[in-house]
Amino acid sequence: MFVIFALADTFFSNIFPIISYGTIMKTIEKIDELKKVIAALKSQSKRIGFVPTMGALHPGHLSLVDRSRNENDITIVSVFVNPIQFNDPNDLRNYPRDIKKDLALLQSHACDIVFHPGVSEMYPEPDRRSFNLNKLDKIMEGKSRAGHFNGVAIVVTKLFEMVNPDKAYFGEKDFQQLTIIKYLVNQLHIAVKIIGCPIIREKDGLAMSSRNALLNPDERKLARIIPETLFEAQKIHRQYSVKDLTNWVKNRINGIKGVQLDYFEIVRSTDLQPVISWDEKDEKIGCVAVKIGKVRLIDNVKFNA
Ligand code: AMP
Repeated sequence: MFVIFALADTFFSNIFPIISYGTIMKTIEKIDELKKVIAALKSQSKRIGFVPTMGALHPGHLSLVDRSRNENDITIVSVFVNPIQFNDPNDLRNYPRDIKKDLALLQSHACDIVFHPGVSEMYPEPDRRSFNLNKLDKIMEGKSRAGHFNGVAIVVTKLFEMVNPDKAYFGEKDFQQLTIIKYLVNQLHIAVKIIGCPIIREKDGLAMSSRNALLNPDERKLARIIPETLFEAQKIHRQYSVKDLTNWVKNRINGIKGVQLDYFEIVRSTDLQPVISWDEKDEKIGCVAVKIGKVRLIDNVKFNA
């Protein structure tokens, strides 16, 4: 079966280079090849949707792929565990990887092209650029993960330059990252529309994350406290001041043995600045990071009027 598909792929790629996309997914590891393919697609005015990922795919990632497929002619997904966004070498070493499974999932979601480069392909030389992220990288995640968002900015700008997408899809699960990427694209005048997509959750409410796979069964049970607390806070928020609700969330999470709160902050969703009062008119979002065992999890919830 595989041989038939492979022959068909070669045949169609050679005879009808564009028509073959959308039928058989193409995996590309080299930047030069990717750029050639993109140039061919652009010459045919194809609208390109792009979903950057670090693999270990789950339905959260796949929701981005589905959205891109619905809104574009061609969907490109990158699978690359970006070493320079990890501030903790153990976190990088333990990060789950399963490219075979990822490719099967992407094929089943009708992804057109997977870009799966090696580290030396992406970084033949160290990339020492330092981005001004308007201090958005110094708060919340940035406080515990020095250099993380600069590493994200480097890889995302590199990928945007290679893929040249019309639209790029990011999850609201990583809300701070989404805000920073919108800022970056605006600041650097990169012609891509950034689309934020809602958080996909497990049945018990836990936000899907590649890192959930690293939780042991007891830790996985404990992790429920995160969505439970956030949704409860969302329900009762008007009974408290912003400050008191913040403390309520912190105390509730800190009260659970085995769960260690890193931060909980209620900020404006536009610029991540602290919210003082519910009466402010900007959309408000409560962002949390906790550590359970060795696994760090993040989540957020919106507080709408
Ligand atoms: P990652 O592979 O963790 O870098 O994630 C790749 C993209 O998928 C990012 O834009 C994430 O925000 C997004 N993503 C991860 N988990 C979820 C989720 N549960 N729901 C929606 N998007 C997600």
